[in-house]
This record gives sequence, structure tokens and C-alpha cells, in this order.
Amino acid sequence: PVVTRIAPSPTGYMHIGTARTALFNWLYARGRGGKFLMRIEDTDRARSTPEATEAILRGMAWLGLDFDGEAVSQFARVDRHREVALEMLAKGAAYKCFSTQEEIAEFREKARAEKRSTLFQSPWRDADEASHPDAPYVIRLKAPREGVTTIHDEVQGDVTWQNSELDDMICLRSDGTPTYMLAVVVDDYDMGVTHVIRGDDHLANAARQSHIYHAMGWPLPAYAHIPLIHGPDGKKLSKRHGATGVEEYQQMGYLAAGMRNYLARLGWSHGDDEFFTDEQAMEWFDTDGIGKSPSRLDFKKLDKICSQHFAVADDAALLQELTDYLAATGAEPLTSEQNDAIFSAMYCLKERAKKFGDILDKAHFILADTPIQPDEKAAKNLDDVSRGILNELTPQLQNASWEREALEALVAQVAEAHDTKLGKLAAPLRAALAGRTATPSVFDMMLILGRDETIARLKVAAG
Ligand code: GLU
Repeated sequence: PVVTRIAPSPTGYMHIGTARTALFNWLYARGRGGKFLMRIEDTDRARSTPEATEAILRGMAWLGLDFDGEAVSQFARVDRHREVALEMLAKGAAYKCFSTQEEIAEFREKARAEKRSTLFQSPWRDADEASHPDAPYVIRLKAPREGVTTIHDEVQGDVTWQNSELDDMICLRSDGTPTYMLAVVVDDYDMGVTHVIRGDDHLANAARQSHIYHAMGWPLPAYAHIPLIHGPDGKKLSKRHGATGVEEYQQMGYLAAGMRNYLARLGWSHGDDEFFTDEQAMEWFDTDGIGKSPSRLDFKKLDKICSQHFAVADDAALLQELTDYLAATGAEPLTSEQNDAIFSAMYCLKERAKKFGDILDKAHFILADTPIQPDEKAAKNLDDVSRGILNELTPQLQNASWEREALEALVAQVAEAHDTKLGKLAAPLRAALAGRTATPSVFDMMLILGRDETIARLKVAAG
């Protein structure tokens, strides 16, 4: 069975790249009936914070990336990491190194002067136990010095390193704490991880980590190292490109389903498919479709994909996400009356919306205080002639059957009587009902507001 994981370091906010890596792992596991696990890599005590862990868990929850079981804390497993280091020591696959910082610096300086490789070669590698001093030591892996190490990567293909370029890395520090290199391998093995999908900044680590697997006689996981996300200009993503944190996207009002779809397409493709559901992505997702070069963030495309998801989203689910969006941005929650009205209007509010802000804009006719105060542009559509027509329309609405076709027919008839086009009459109606020029269709607004409120607003506007 497939087991994947996301292993973020909780040292800041949740980066969009971490979100995409999580998504890929989630899709890979979910599409294969496997498990997707979460490990918080909090071994760096100085940089890890509980707030950062919270931000990661919030980001995952917002994106709807559910993981199996509890989030594992790497730090909680240090005893196990230490145990593996000692086991490698006992097997002769690792050794105690007593070299001090000064000695290592000296070694490097000498190597530089002699134009040799500056990779540290410990004199303790083959020293015998009897010669060990009573002094602090680190445990180093006895890495092969001859030959090559090849990692078969599902994205990058076979990648080979000369072993002479890989030093005897430290697995356990002199204070007894494990290094990241050791912890990651032990945890992946113990958690049964079969597929490691992560950023290609970890590719060289895979070569060195493979030596620990070999030392322990553990099978290697399958690897897929994915290229980084770049900004729209093709440069490494940074703050100046705009949002880099997942929470910023939530606060901008993007829909989680749209975000998943967009992030899935960022560095992965399935033919020409741009818009798809989670189920399709799970079915299609494979490491074959992952590109070899960095992908570029494209906000236009994100907008487009999100608007397609808004259009097909379930109204009740949208209302819930809207509520979460308001909370995430620190805005006032909606009253239950507003909630009800927005829910009944959602079918038209979601049309062409790219973000939740667009929904709120369109919902202005529901959310605005009454009497409606037309904005400057809308007020221009309430000239004397238009107001006269509204005045004439109002009593007829009193007796009209309150359904779309009847209302359309009635308004068309009044427009015709005045030799105006229906579209021309729509402008003063928008101004009267919403106080704005960009609104849902006037008939949608009338149906949602109901007869009494519609007539009240027309009367106010007609003056
Ligand atoms: N903790 C590492 C990171 O945040 C991930 C390590 C891994 O996926 O193996 O980049």
C-alpha cells in the first residue's frame, strides 16, 4: 500500500510550495487507496514555534488536505533516532568522531592550501576503540568513499553523485540530538513511507540519506523531487511577487477547491485538462506528469480556475466558506438574516465570481443599509425620465405575479410603452434596487428581495 507524507518544518508561515507538495502527496495517496501522513519536523528547537505548527494545520484544513492519523512530532521521536544512530555504530556502519571544530577548520585550510577536496575526512573513521579519548564526540556515518551513488528519481530520472563528493555526515551531535538527515530517514522508515514526493532542493539529500537506508538494511522509498515554484517573471518566488503564504490566498478570497485545482496544475499536467475535480485529479495524478522545470505562478490562471469552481460549487458549501473567509479576514460575521438571503441568492452571486470579495460585491443589494444610497455612477441613472418610468412601474408590480417570466414581461412592456430598450430600463432599476451599476440581473434581485422590498426601494428612488 502507498504511504506518502508531508514533512514541513514549523519555522514560519505555510508556504505555497509546501501546500503544493502536500497536495501532490495527498493526491498520490488518495488516488491509490493509500495513506497520507503529516510529520511536523520540529527538531530545530531554536526555530520551531507552536504558532507555525498551528499555521500549517490551519492551511491544511483550509485547503481540505486531510491526513491520516495524528500529526507526528519529529522532536518527540529523538530517543528512537538516537537508538538508530547507536545501532549503526554497533554495526560498524557509523563511528564516533572526536575531532573538534578547530581541528576540522584546520583540516579544511590545509586541504585548500594543497588544492585537495575540502570535504572533511575524519581521522577517527577507522580508529580503534582503545584509542578513544574521554571527550565529546559526534556519530558520523561511514559513507562509501569509492564509486558512485545513484538515486532513481521519478521526476529527474537517474541522478548520480561521486561518493568522493559525499562526506561522512553527522547523524548524532555531541549533545546527543539527531540531525535532520538521520531523523528524516528513521521517521520515514518507521512511518512506512513508500513514496517521498518533495521539493528538488532535497535531491542531494536523498543521495546521502540513501546511505543510512543501506546501513540499516532498509528498503529505499520511491523518490519524486519536484521543481520549485517561481514567480510570474521566472525568478525564484519571493515576497515581491505577492502572496507566498497559503493564508494570504485564503484572505484574498480564493476558493479552496479552485486553489487545489490550480496548485495541481502548477508543475503537473494531464493532457490539456485545466479545470477538474478532486476525484479526477486523484484518478489522474502520477509522477509521470510532473514537469522537470520550475513552474510559474500565474494569477490570471488562478482567477480563471477559481471562477470555474465558484460556478459549479454547492451553495451551502459556498456559504460556509464565505463565513470562514470573513472570519479569516477579521470581518464582521453575517447575521442569520443576511445568511439566509445570501444563501437564496448564491445561485446568481457565484456567477463569474473569482473570489469571495466578488460575491460580497454582488451581494451589496442584500447587505447594504436601507434606504439604498446610490453611488455616484448609479445616481446618474436616476434622471427625471427614469424616475418617471419607475413611478409608473411601481403600481403595476403591486399586482404582478412574482415570478421571473411575469416580471420580465411586465418590465419589457413598460419599456416598450416609453420607447426604451429593456437594457436602458435596467440601469435605473439597478440603481434603485442596489445603488450600484454592477449587480446581479434586476429580475434576480427582485425575486430575492421580494415584492414589498422591491416596491419600497423603487418608491425611494423615484422620489
Ligand atoms: N522538513 C523539510 C522541509 O520543510 C522536508 C523534508 C522532507 O520532505 O524530506 O523542507
